[in-house]
Amino acid sequence: MDNLAQPLALTLGHLYPEQLNLYGDRGNIVTLRHRCLLRGIELRVVGLGVGDALAPDAYDMLFIGGGQDKEQAPVAQDLYEMKGIGLWAAIEDNMPVLAVCGGYQLLAHYYRPAEGPDMRGLGVFDAWTIHKGPRVPRCIGDVAISWNGMTLVGFENHGGRTYLGSSKPFGKVLKGNGNNAEDGTEGAIYRNTFGTYLHGSLLPKNPHFADHLLTLALQRKYGDQLLLNEEPTNYTGYTETPAREVAAVLVPQTVTVKETVNILEPLDDTLEWEAHASMLEQLGLYTEATQVMRTD
Ligand code: GLN
Repeated sequence: MDNLAQPLALTLGHLYPEQLNLYGDRGNIVTLRHRCLLRGIELRVVGLGVGDALAPDAYDMLFIGGGQDKEQAPVAQDLYEMKGIGLWAAIEDNMPVLAVCGGYQLLAHYYRPAEGPDMRGLGVFDAWTIHKGPRVPRCIGDVAISWNGMTLVGFENHGGRTYLGSSKPFGKVLKGNGNNAEDGTEGAIYRNTFGTYLHGSLLPKNPHFADHLLTLALQRKYGDQLLLNEEPTNYTGYTETPAREVAAVLVPQTVTVKETVNILEPLDDTLEWEAHASMLEQLGLYTEATQVMRTD
């Protein structure tokens, strides 16, 4: 990273920080900022509320959190009328976007809440969400999924069930409900836009995915100037990634792991992996898997 005159800087647009911020979603921003800070990268965070236009060129990455049905309704209208064109332009230009729960639902075709009219979504994901009504139990609890040959852990609380059309799932449920507690899929992916039900917040306990988002944003902004070395390695330079050890036990070997370029200096994520491990343990997912992580 030293071959660049200016210190690296990224701008993150935080959509609807007041309306969509459940179960610690803001923690994702704190994590991204912290992981940048430790590498001398500046992360500017700009809040975009109802009524604010979205100029895609002003941002390098975007985040939208979750919210209750009553908070989603005004957001859905604003997203469609005020930010739709700018957001689509950013997404089609491979900007990394993380959309959690209620925000994820509004990036699909529509959300049919427990009460009230359907909320029109942006249709980024070929998917739709139906709330099965107050009598059907919500999807609540800790979750573990497999993503790209590794594990992700988090917490979910949603009444809506999401069904995928042609969109690729973000991950496969190892423990929990995921999109609809029926088909084992979790979330959705379109280009570098990731939709997921994982709150918690997601990124503190999943440093490999946090760095994946940062790597995508840096690579999109600075291109190959940043390459630490030519050899593409596994995510973010972790050769002995504990996640891989666990994945080797948990995730079927049929999963092809997509390597990304090596841009970010590895950080000491002992605490993060401990938190990851303890959630896997709580979920009864192979204690020996966590043993592997602990011994590393
Ligand atoms: N209100 C939506 C639902 O219940 C989303 C909830 C959330 O963002 N946690 O499904």
